[in-house]
Amino acid sequence: MLSQHLPCPAGIDVSGGDVSLAESPDAWNWFARQYGREPEGSWFAPGRVNLMGGPDYNEVFVLPFALSSGVHVAAARRPDRQIALASRQAGGDPILLSIDTLEPGSADGWAAYAAGVAWALREAGYLTDGADVAIDADLPLGAGLSSSAALECSVALALTELYERSVPRSELARLARRAENEFAGVPTGVMDQLAVLLCRAGHALLLDCRSGTWTAIPLNPASAGLQLLVLDTRVRHALGDGRYAARRRTCQKAALMLGAWSLREIADTPEALTRLTEPFLQRAARHVVFESRRVLAAADLLDAGDMAGIGSLLTASHQSLRDQFEVSWPEADAAVEAAVDAGALGARMTGGGFGGCVVTLVPDDRATQVREAVTERFAQRGWAAPGCLDAAPSSGARRIR
Ligand code: ADP
Ligand code: MG
Repeated sequence: MLSQHLPCPAGIDVSGGDVSLAESPDAWNWFARQYGREPEGSWFAPGRVNLMGGPDYNEVFVLPFALSSGVHVAAARRPDRQIALASRQAGGDPILLSIDTLEPGSADGWAAYAAGVAWALREAGYLTDGADVAIDADLPLGAGLSSSAALECSVALALTELYERSVPRSELARLARRAENEFAGVPTGVMDQLAVLLCRAGHALLLDCRSGTWTAIPLNPASAGLQLLVLDTRVRHALGDGRYAARRRTCQKAALMLGAWSLREIADTPEALTRLTEPFLQRAARHVVFESRRVLAAADLLDAGDMAGIGSLLTASHQSLRDQFEVSWPEADAAVEAAVDAGALGARMTGGGFGGCVVTLVPDDRATQVREAVTERFAQRGWAAPGCLDAAPSSGARRIR
């Protein structure tokens, strides 16, 4: 398979920096090397960029699209009730787990995401038999591009399709989320798994995180002479580190104080926010409420074919994430500023915050300048050059072979 990364200018390398990412992931051969036999099939689940909106746990709207990079899985059935897991990024020998004894706590680290899927599938009655699973990826881990959901969803497709169990994608997303929440112990919402499983090429997904319903919205930058660039600041977050969960608690507390089930209920009555007297509580809730309006405005512009029009919304969204919700980090702020100074129409951090990537919307003839300007700004601050990923809106998870 060809490299799915952009031909970035000299000085920008495309690796994740912290783990060995495959330039051309080859789960098939990785499987053969690990298990000494051929796999029976291979599957792929993409990473995603959330263009705007969220956080999803507030039951608001979000607007993710799928990347062409992601997690590849090769798998084969095995005759016993065991699951073997090997990731080229994690290294080491395959981890062997019995399906019958899988419980939260029975696997940790990276394996919890994959074992959690087997557990959630077993609990739902979709998994009774074993499998050998090999994983390889060209998606940076912990970079806000949802490698965790890509891992879960590629494994979920493999484990069900190996045994010809057909499970509706919305149900698979629910089970993959359950794996992340209850088995890996990360309290994320449902955006990532739905985006990974449902996105379509040339589209973003306008996802209503309250009802779980979605609409595909055209997102075709190339046809407008534009590009979406994802710049990896190389700062790594860990959603398990407590700050993500702390924001979630802040939002819950704000909703509770306003007598609402979630901040979504305040979206049409922002004047209610003044009842929040604790300054940070009010700022965080204000971000969620106004972000919800921005995402709907962006979807309207995209529907009307005005892709360039969303640029200023992207930057406004970043400023709100930085100043009100306070989940941005210095490298992201510098990247957004340098990109806009160099002619980007807009830029915004993406993901849960505290590390990862920035997405920028740039005219074709400015793309190189923008990438170089961000690299130069980083060099001035003594930071490693950012990574650069192809962000053409791509298809969701699928069987490859
Ligand atoms: P993000 O989803 O933004 O990449 P998370 O912290 O939610 O960040 O998930 C990253 C974690 O997912 C990694 O630390 C690792 O445990 C797991 N993971 C993702 N991709 C892989 C992979 N290819 N191999 C092994 N583990 C992976
Ligand atoms: Mg994740």
